[in-house]
Amino acid sequence: MLQNLPRVIADGPLSNAAIELLQGHVELLPWENLFGETDETVSGIYTFGHPVLNGELMDKVPNIKVISNHGVGVDHISLTDAQARDIPVGNTPGVLDGATADMGFCLLMAAARRLVEGDRIARVDTEDLKTKKLGALVGREVHGSRLGIVGMGRIGLQVARRASGFDMQVSYFNRTRRTDIESQLGVTYQPLHDLLATCDYIMLCVPLTEETVGLIGADELRMMLPTATLVNIARGAVVDTDALTIALTENWIHAAALDVTEPEPLPIGHPLLKLDNVIVVPHIGSATVQTRQKMAELSVKNLMAGLAGDALLNRVV
Ligand code: NAP
Repeated sequence: MLQNLPRVIADGPLSNAAIELLQGHVELLPWENLFGETDETVSGIYTFGHPVLNGELMDKVPNIKVISNHGVGVDHISLTDAQARDIPVGNTPGVLDGATADMGFCLLMAAARRLVEGDRIARVDTEDLKTKKLGALVGREVHGSRLGIVGMGRIGLQVARRASGFDMQVSYFNRTRRTDIESQLGVTYQPLHDLLATCDYIMLCVPLTEETVGLIGADELRMMLPTATLVNIARGAVVDTDALTIALTENWIHAAALDVTEPEPLPIGHPLLKLDNVIVVPHIGSATVQTRQKMAELSVKNLMAGLAGDALLNRVV
């Protein structure tokens, strides 16, 4: 045990930014320690890559004062179990909105203009195939089209700002109307089913909760335009993966672009990965040097505050 340093269990591998900030302030212990004997010397838990954390694991370290998450989505942590044990949970809202919205837009445009397919073809050393395929690589327009944002929160708002620069007509669905954003950006509220039935692009920006799990299933995919593209930058389980696979295979919708999947990662050979009309990236929405630095700073500040018994900068529960 390192002298006087609070002992903290973390999953890894951690980013260099997080390691640098934690070094000298805590003694880091591997995640596997939660599966061993009860350890009363551990003071905190730091979650980096969405490991499942439930009450059973929390009870292995009965003296922890804080759980700090590197990220905003906390669906992998049982908040009710943390609350029942009076353990504050911190997260990092606000610092990753821009980067995640950039990724949403990046995926939207890549799917619309068939960027990934084009890149694949450009690398093939067959003139004949190249010529044939290039003629067929006709995408769909972004500017002037309709974007429906499901979840007009911090990230949704940033997506809407980007869309207005592309002359898109933007509508959104939330449980609560955001008249402030409506007047500020000229976006319109639509009930979910209307939004699905009328938009060219649907971007998912909701948290994963009991209410949003499977929010987009077979019925919803059937409602979408056959020319529509679904972009998911929220959480994989907001979409029914099997239904999406069928929808893309049978061309109920035009395309999908996914930063997040269920399961995550998708196993190699998964039917979704065999389709040309889907783009999948491995949950890199917030992965820029600048944003990851800010996330590391905020999550480490939350951790250190909790260890000191102070209020967290951002507390979820
Ligand atoms: P936020 O500010 O809390 O926004 C979430 C929005 O979703 C709110 O406007 C909320 O409005 C709406 N919402 C919640 N439950 C809903 C429901 N049942 N039906 C319809 N709308 C609902 O959160 P955020 O910071 O924008 O982050 C959103 C999520 O993005 C995170 O929870 C996380 O899972 C995900 N995320 C992904 C990445 C990535 O790398 N891909 C990065 C960061 C975050 P109402 O409460 O009024 O409904």
